[in-house]
Amino acid sequence: MFDSKSYDVLVIGSGAAGLTLALKLAHIAKIAVLSKVSLTEGSTFYAQGGISAVLDAQDSIESHISDTLDAGGGLCDEEIVKLTVSYGKRSIDWLREQGVAFTEEQLATGEKQLHLNREGGHSHRRIVHATDATGKAVSLSLINQAKAHPNIQLFENHNVINLITTHKLGLPEQKILGAYVLDTQHNTIKPIAARIVVLASGGASKVYFYSTNPHIATGDGIALAWRAGCRISNMEFMQFHPTCLYHPSARSFLISEAVRGEGAKLVLPDGSKFMHRYDAREELAPRDIVARAIDNEMKIHGADCVYLDISHKPADFIREHFPTIYQQCLAFDIDITQQPIPVVPAAHYTCGGVLTDSYARTDIPGLYAIGEVACTGLHGANRMASNSLLECLVFAERAAQDILKKLPTLPSKTLTLPEWDDSQVIDSDEEVVVSHNWDELRRFMWDYVGIVRTNKRLSRAMRRLDLLKEEIAEYYTHFRVTGDLLELRSLVIVAELIVRSAQQRKESRGLHYTQDYPDLDDSQPPQNTVLTPTNFDASCALNVPPR
Ligand SMILES: Cc1cc2nc3c(=O)[nH]c(=O)nc-3n(C[C@H](O)[C@H](O)[C@H](O)COP(=O)(O)OP(=O)(O)OC[C@H]3O[C@@H](n4cnc5c(N)ncnc54)[C@H](O)[C@@H]3O)c2cc1C
Repeated sequence: MFDSKSYDVLVIGSGAAGLTLALKLAHIAKIAVLSKVSLTEGSTFYAQGGISAVLDAQDSIESHISDTLDAGGGLCDEEIVKLTVSYGKRSIDWLREQGVAFTEEQLATGEKQLHLNREGGHSHRRIVHATDATGKAVSLSLINQAKAHPNIQLFENHNVINLITTHKLGLPEQKILGAYVLDTQHNTIKPIAARIVVLASGGASKVYFYSTNPHIATGDGIALAWRAGCRISNMEFMQFHPTCLYHPSARSFLISEAVRGEGAKLVLPDGSKFMHRYDAREELAPRDIVARAIDNEMKIHGADCVYLDISHKPADFIREHFPTIYQQCLAFDIDITQQPIPVVPAAHYTCGGVLTDSYARTDIPGLYAIGEVACTGLHGANRMASNSLLECLVFAERAAQDILKKLPTLPSKTLTLPEWDDSQVIDSDEEVVVSHNWDELRRFMWDYVGIVRTNKRLSRAMRRLDLLKEEIAEYYTHFRVTGDLLELRSLVIVAELIVRSAQQRKESRGLHYTQDYPDLDDSQPPQNTVLTPTNFDASCALNVPPR
């Protein structure tokens, strides 16, 4: 349990982004890192494929830039793409210094070098990996390093409720002051004061019924920033991973893109291939194309799933390259060396998020956003595989560069923050309201705001959201907060941001596909969707001030 001490830097999130930043600042600053549940429970730990970086002599920075721009559907910020790609090698070197053991291969000369995989959208082998459990290797190494550092304090089961800014306390000159945090084990709420606050809280894919993401991915950071007054960008671009294992007991298990990279074919229940009818790159087409193709084939054939078949490869090759996938599938009686894997698309990655500049700065002075919670301009309308972990590392470093310069200019003492007041609320007598609304929200988001959208479906979703917002606001005002209620409050804001962004885009681009405007609008230059929390629109009904 934390004391009410203040910190130089409060990092919300213990994934690749948050821990990288903490480790890059710890020589000079006192840092608190919060995790909503355990330290490992974030998307980082579950990443399988790897991290993109130009390391092969045949590859080039220009090629990585060009592939990223190509995937991004005209909306990538070219300067940000160049910057990110150019940080590739040093980011991998830094991770190796932290103890991450990436998979190596032996050359004919006897020397060893990093083994590079190839994934969809990449025109070269450039995916550095630790077999098929890259995220686990990264996560465990960074946690070990952070635990060993005397200037870093790690807090599990600490859930941020609200950001505290000067404006929220009625003070002039907007800047960040800290956050109210619920310790879910001890059921206490305390303010934590900090000179700098960093959102590293991951994505929002749990807004959909089927998702590859761990439970924590409820878009809290996006909702926190929105309620505090930050602009949010490009939320219509939710990426659906084409191949999530379809099995009643394994709803969130991902079959990595690297399996297609090594030659796996997508087939219908009758064994026939179909990707050649959608894209010349077939199984290696970008994810949005593959996900839409699967969605379409499932609808045409009324199939519950399609199949991914790698069984034509030697069994030893499969077991060596994909040990985790092999074991996981075997646990469900699917031997991938012998039979095809049943798969469906599932929500996977949030391309939009808190709008930041090239140093990860948000609209609020002293508040930064890094990793999946942020919208830096790298992914545009569609993220290319394995660029996201790279983005976490690069923007953690960029934020650290800026914070190192800024810290000496900030007052050394933080303000004393008002205690959380829950004297006016009681314990909930109807938890079922929260669980019911969680379920309802994620189901209509899947049905109406999923892979293929229409104006009608978006309006339907918005009507339901209006009702849910009212109920949740009322619930939040009367009852003590719980972890589930906080997540639901985030999800409803994130859902609204997705629907509003999708309604604004009158074209189909990248991950956003609508039957009402099925083509690109090339009559004007491509536009980002930027939502501004102008003087308290609907979602601010949920922004009940600190009690
Ligand atoms: C199954 C899977 C496979 C993937 N494979 C790859 C891959 O091969 N390559 C690649 O580049 N990308 C991959 N991705 C995407 C990539 O893993 C993520 O984009 C990246 O790990 C996000 O890191 P992060 O640090 O931003 O957030 P996360 O790793 O998700 O961490 C978020 C942290 O924030 C904390 N948090 C959230 N809300 C709160 C709150 N309210 N209060 C306190 N703490 C909070 C969480 O507890 C957690 O500690 C994959 C994703 C998934 C789900």
